[in-house]
Amino acid sequence: MTSSSPASPTADASTSPYLRLRGVHKSYGDTPVLQSIDADIARGEFVTLLGPSGCGKSTLLRAIAGLTPMDAGDIEVAGETITHLPPQRRDIGMVFQHYALFPNMSVADNVAFGLKMRRVDAAERRERVEQALALVELDTHALKSPHQLSGGQRQRVALARALITRPRILLMDEPLSALDAKIRQHLREQLREIQRQLQLTTLFVTHDQEEAMMLSDRIFLMGEGHILQHGDAESLYTRPNSEAVVNFVGAYNRFDAEQASRLLGRDIEGQCFALRPEALYLVSEKSAPALPANPGPGCRGTIAARQLLGSIVRYRIECEGLSMNVDTLNRGVRSLMTRGSDVVVHADIDEARLL
Ligand code: ADP
Repeated sequence: MTSSSPASPTADASTSPYLRLRGVHKSYGDTPVLQSIDADIARGEFVTLLGPSGCGKSTLLRAIAGLTPMDAGDIEVAGETITHLPPQRRDIGMVFQHYALFPNMSVADNVAFGLKMRRVDAAERRERVEQALALVELDTHALKSPHQLSGGQRQRVALARALITRPRILLMDEPLSALDAKIRQHLREQLREIQRQLQLTTLFVTHDQEEAMMLSDRIFLMGEGHILQHGDAESLYTRPNSEAVVNFVGAYNRFDAEQASRLLGRDIEGQCFALRPEALYLVSEKSAPALPANPGPGCRGTIAARQLLGSIVRYRIECEGLSMNVDTLNRGVRSLMTRGSDVVVHADIDEARLL
């Protein structure tokens, strides 16, 4: 059985932090929105701020960009304190959920805007716009106006506009949320590819766990103005360190000590356990899966509900007074179990998380 470790959002010890946050604090009125946030992010790292709506993700991003003043704390980039610099002197690019393009300018002029503000000469501007548009695969759309583009294309223009000034850090606030699922998937892959190619230190905000897990080197899970836990997708998913993380990540089953004792067939005192639905195994007339190495004694139950989630089937099982979700692979119509069927549930004890 695994136990938890405290959150300490620092970069890999072998790399010195490129972006360093210390004691970042922000309140609106009496309500704290960011509470002493510390974080170290390595150069070229792709970090996602994940968490429910209202937990402070955008506020943190905006504080780093200099768009929202902080009450306390320090921000360093590459060893330089930028806490008191105005946004335009921070060398940080930002992409928002709603593309915020200038509707009356062509795609090329939108992308060139940041260079024009910096008084870069016309010849260099042209060359860099060409490069930036090629990077986001929009080179044939330079003369179009934003309203002639799809949502996904507009977001790629916004990305090119943020990248053209060669920022030290890229901040992205729910950039894919307004797009439909298929385009979102494609743009995710493209975005990650570009980020890797440029080795660009990136902070990406989303409330979508799957998106965070697909994209990130590391995920910072936020809740109520704190970083609750950080780590790669695998560690966050399989080793949540608190009930708050369990409640956000996956579809964990949560058991108190008495319930866990019944399920695991041994006495467990004063602790709370979480178990992923795929760490429970159903044995029935229709299915006799290979059990894990440490399967527990098994618990007799009945199927109370069934949810088809594509390749996964999620069963709700009532089991000797316990109620739990169990996920199985959808192997086809004949293997589906119906409501009321008798089953035996085995728990993979090694996967139980002590909270
Ligand atoms: P998230 O990005 O995680 O959804 P936000 O950072 O946007 O969360 O907001 C965090 C909290 O701060 C929310 O409760 C929100 O209502 C509040 N908040 C954000 N901006 C302001 C503002 N300008 N004035 C007052 N409250 C705000």
